[in-house]
Amino acid sequence: MKHCPSCGHERNNNDMRCPECGRFYSRVIELIDEAAADEEKNTLRGRYQRILESGNIKQALLLEWRQIRAGLSRQALFALFVIFAFVFALIITVL
Ligand SMILES: [Zn+2]
Repeated sequence: MKHCPSCGHERNNNDMRCPECGRFYSRVIELIDEAAADEEKNTLRGRYQRILESGNIKQALLLEWRQIRAGLSRQALFALFVIFAFVFALIITVL
């Protein structure tokens, strides 16, 4: 449950403004906050916090490691593709 940033009154997700103090909820600010929270999750600090917060540290570490590896392999594949494309373009221009 979310709360009004102004008075702390519990808010309904569909409400446009707080029934208690009349403050309008800003969807834009909320979206920015959500994006920042998402970003935070992917930083080293976010990972560290998540690992600490989960009860089973070993399990959490394993999960994080798997995510990092999956991300890396995708990046590595893209790098390889770029290198191949570059080499191919070079060969074409030389011939
Ligand atoms: Zn309020």
